[in-house]
Amino acid sequence: MKKITVLGVTGSIGTQTIDVVTGHPDEFEIVAMSAGHNIKKLEEIMNQLPVPHICVLEQKDYDYLSEKYPDRHFYLGQEGLIQISTLEETEIVLNAIVGFAGLLPTIEAIKAGKDIALANKETLVVAGHIIIPLAKKYGIQLLPVDSEHSAIFQSLNGENPSTIEKILLTASGGPFRTFTKEQLEHVTAADALKHPNWSMGAKITIDSASMMNKGFEMIEAKWLYNVSQHDIEIVVHPQSIVHSMVEFKDGSVKAQLGLPDMRLPIRYALGLPGRLASDCKKMTVADYCNLTFELP
Ligand code: NDP
Repeated sequence: MKKITVLGVTGSIGTQTIDVVTGHPDEFEIVAMSAGHNIKKLEEIMNQLPVPHICVLEQKDYDYLSEKYPDRHFYLGQEGLIQISTLEETEIVLNAIVGFAGLLPTIEAIKAGKDIALANKETLVVAGHIIIPLAKKYGIQLLPVDSEHSAIFQSLNGENPSTIEKILLTASGGPFRTFTKEQLEHVTAADALKHPNWSMGAKITIDSASMMNKGFEMIEAKWLYNVSQHDIEIVVHPQSIVHSMVEFKDGSVKAQLGLPDMRLPIRYALGLPGRLASDCKKMTVADYCNLTFELP
């Protein structure tokens, strides 16, 4: 039974983590979780799972929940995030907070010897130079949850990292992939929030529409896999089935494929060193028939 702290449990990755955990009740237990402002969703999750340690951002939510649920332990703000990330019983922290608020709890969790399943890409974007040496120093595992980085991680399984020729980071191209410059002048935020393949939180969806997300992912990949940005190539792949690829010095290319479902990389990161069986929707031959790739 792996004991997990989930940061950002009310978000897109957080709720999909709940799906994974409830699908494997003999493998995982959530011992602590955090929410931002969505207390309704947090209470739904609290009613579903008896998680004992809970952190919220606002004093009023802390007061309300402490009074209503006297049998649970509540924590507040950044300090609270650090406390639930460093609990004695926590073995792995799944960080699914959006933005730079995810950084400090990650640093403190690493120092406390916890493995990190990292969805919060901003942690590596703003502080890869701190996180990577720290993870090495404390001997913890940094497990990527971002689907592209999970694909690279899986492709590197059993390989010598010094034999990487380049990393091919796939990008769906988002909702505006085929738009002309003139058409782009009229798009709205609502249009940008309609991602063709993935259902994600608002920030990453907007960043995907503008392709900024791929820039962040390049930075993430550079830190995670110790490669130069010149060794990372972006390839547009509108179906989001091939989640990324690694080319090796002998000319071989390895890829990881799967339907676009974030529960897959979440399950992989939490389930390591093995793979967990799942009744999730699986690929059919039809899914392989129309895979296309374009230059960005
Ligand atoms: P969401 O916006 O759906 O969820 C974000 C979570 O963080 C929520 O639980 C939110 O709380 C909480 N939160 C927001 N601000 C703060 C803060 N200042 N302090 C503490 N908690 C906060 O985001 P996603 O789940 O989409 O993304 C999470 C991370 O994972 C991002 O870094 C994203 O780039 C990355 N990622 C996401 C993917 C996806 O498919 N969604 C894919 C790959 C990476 P509340 O809602 O209660 O206010």
